Parts: sequence; C-alpha cells; structure tokens
Amino acid sequence: MHEMSLMGDIIQLVQEDAEAKGIKRLEKIELLVGEIANAMPDALRMAFAIIREQNPQLFSETAELVIHLEEAKAECVLCGHVYRPEQKIALCPQCNIPSGRMLSGETFQVLSYEGE
Ligand SMILES: [Zn+2]
Repeated sequence: MHEMSLMGDIIQLVQEDAEAKGIKRLEKIELLVGEIANAMPDALRMAFAIIREQNPQLFSETAELVIHLEEAKAECVLCGHVYRPEQKIALCPQCNIPSGRMLSGETFQVLSYEGE
C-alpha cells in the first residue's frame, strides 16, 4: 500500500512546518487529492489512522484527516472537447484516440492543517 508511505511523507512535512510554528499537536490535516492522482482516499484514511495510533504525542485524540477530491478533467488537443477521463491516458470520447491533455485531477497536496 503506497498510500502508507505517501501519508508518512505528508505527515513528516506537516510536522516539520508545525514545529517551526510552535505547534505541538495536530488536530486536522486537509488534503486535496485528484481522482487520478494514484492515491485512494480510503487507503489514505487508513494510513492516517495507523500513523495517528503510532504517534500519540503528535496527534490529538480526535485528530482527523479531511480529503477534498479534485475532479479529473481533460481537454482534447484535436477537437477541444473537455471531458472527465477515467484514467491518466485520456481517450477523447469524440475522437476515440488518447489525445487528452490533463487539466486537473492529478493534484496531491496539503491544503491546510490545524493544531495547537
Ligand atoms: Zn477529441
């Protein structure tokens, strides 16, 4: 489950930033995750729960992970049609060839976090 290492990396980044700001305990982390970012929200939530259990000094008991999903969108470079691709290789439904250029849906970033 690569979400485990993704989540570990994110928490490490957040932790470093929080320490620099004098924040000792995390209450909430908000992520923006694209539909085709290759990270499953359920697996991310599970990874977060495991890491929270393992690091009780870093998280409050009610610490939560909030995931905002970013819808995938692609634009066909040939006909200009904007559509919602199923996967990274975007097959234009009008041209029937993989001519899509990704507009959104691949994002994976920390939007914000809270703590005290
Ligand atoms: Zn097209």
